Amino acid sequence: METQTPSAVGVKTKQRVAGPIIMLGPPGAGKGTQAKLLAETLGIPQISTGDILRDNVARKTELGVKAKDVMGRGDLVPDELVCDMVADRLLQADCARGFILDGFPRTVRQAEWLDAQLGKMREGKDEEGQKACAAPVVIALVVEYNHLLQRLTGRRSCPTCGLIYNVYYQPPKVPGICDVDGTTLVARPDDAEEVIAERLKAYERLTLPLVAYYGERGRLIEVNGDQSVEAVTAQMFRALENVNRM
Ligand code: AMP
Repeated sequence: METQTPSAVGVKTKQRVAGPIIMLGPPGAGKGTQAKLLAETLGIPQISTGDILRDNVARKTELGVKAKDVMGRGDLVPDELVCDMVADRLLQADCARGFILDGFPRTVRQAEWLDAQLGKMREGKDEEGQKACAAPVVIALVVEYNHLLQRLTGRRSCPTCGLIYNVYYQPPKVPGICDVDGTTLVARPDDAEEVIAERLKAYERLTLPLVAYYGERGRLIEVNGDQSVEAVTAQMFRALENVNRM
């Protein structure tokens, strides 16, 4: 069977309705990296609730002020706040052919809310419009615990272009400096070791049940996240083609 590269898939998929895709997995599983690649190929937005929250914290908005301490501890921001934020984002025009949720839902309540919200969004839409907010396809990245720790403690990002590096696996050419624009790389405050432990605990307790939630509804695709970025991407695309959404 012929295997298509993501860019080859991209040529024929950019104008199609891709529908909602959820990236599920523990912190450090590579959700952001893979979501960006998918978004580029499919021509639909990556919606990272962590990024939106960090932006609100930086701008000291009302939401940012409420979220800051919770995020600093590695806990989850209350469902109501995050769901309202996602509801606003899904109304934007760039979501008309679908979207990739990265870091949402993170609790069963958020998943139930999302199912109801997508149901409301489908009301009164034509066939294409309904497909854009159909039941989501969920890609669960499965990664071994020790790899997660290395990915999180080694993660650095460029505050200018958003590119993500890892000092162990994907170091920049000059240590601490972005290859693309020369900006000094930063570590996220919540990638400190004691906060990582809390984030992983929150994942186990509150987010892991979503594997069963989506599995029972026949929407889950498990992908081995312990491979190279390219191999994970290829596996993800093959799986998505099989669900006939592209
Ligand atoms: P992330 O960048 O996805 O690792 O998210 C960073 C932090 O933002 C998390 O540790 C949470 O405090 C908060 N956060 C992001 N997404 C959610 C969500 N869906 N529900 C609750 N809190 C969230």
